[in-house]
Amino acid sequence: MRVGVFGAAGRMGSEVCRAVSADPGLTLVAAIDPFHAGEALSESAAITGSDVVIAASYDAFLAADVQVAIDFTHAEAAHANLLWCAANGVHAVVGTTGFTAAQIDEFRAAFTKSNCLIAPNFAIGAVLMMRFAEMAAPFFETAEIIEFHHDKKIDAPSGTATATAQRMADRMIEANRKLADDPTQKEVYAGARGGLGPADIRVHAVRMRGMVAHQEVILGTTGQTLVIRHDTTDRTSFMPGVVLAAKRIAQVPGLVFGLDPYLDL
Ligand code: NAP
Repeated sequence: MRVGVFGAAGRMGSEVCRAVSADPGLTLVAAIDPFHAGEALSESAAITGSDVVIAASYDAFLAADVQVAIDFTHAEAAHANLLWCAANGVHAVVGTTGFTAAQIDEFRAAFTKSNCLIAPNFAIGAVLMMRFAEMAAPFFETAEIIEFHHDKKIDAPSGTATATAQRMADRMIEANRKLADDPTQKEVYAGARGGLGPADIRVHAVRMRGMVAHQEVILGTTGQTLVIRHDTTDRTSFMPGVVLAAKRIAQVPGLVFGLDPYLDL
């Protein structure tokens, strides 16, 4: 697979460039990051022997005949990047978070000539956390999510938290279960009870220097609580999932949300 990376100079993008370069089944042929155009990946991402230079425009992907693009940018940039991939028959593996439901629908309609995977979290432990949380959801009357991220994250709550809440809500609706009413009568600081997600699941977002990506799903019923927690301590945790997706995407048609089908979950 000939791979191009959008956001190649970013925290995730540079890690992706290293992971793709190190994998014998993938070839990194191009990189785009407009404000870092002209930087050589051999220096900016410390990839020994790479002759890829970061470009500013889509022409670089066309010239290098990119088959799969990997996007770790931000929602606005990724929106344009994905529509370009769909129009040009390029597969897209997407880690960027913060899309609206309408944008996801737009991508679903646009990807007819190539495939797209949007995964809010590529770490196997986080994929399993979401699965365990949706399994547990119908059995508890109270459930809240607390996500913790580094202090440079621009969207809140995280894509992992919104995906977790939606999957738990879907399972609760299927099982005809609802959360208990919130007891709060007075919120001294606005937002103290967190953001109200689907099926009234409250989501709290912490931004903290020194952290990477962490999440707790807390579920409670009479006399017991269950805590499901995942910690990402290093961005390399996402790379096996990204590499797997880049290798398999040609075989998984249309738009897929979440890594589960790629892991046979
Ligand atoms: P980051 O360090 O800010 O990297 C984003 C990069 O994209 C920056 O270098 C940015 O350039 C660049 N960029 C902006 N517009 C672009 C465009 N039109 N084309 C190409 N590149 C463009 O952010 P990050 O921490 O790597 O996170 C990136 C995204 O990945 C976020 O949405 C985050 O939530 C998500 N994420 C997902 C996972 C997962 O497993 N799915 C894990 C971690 C993070 P400038 O800095 O010059 O704007």
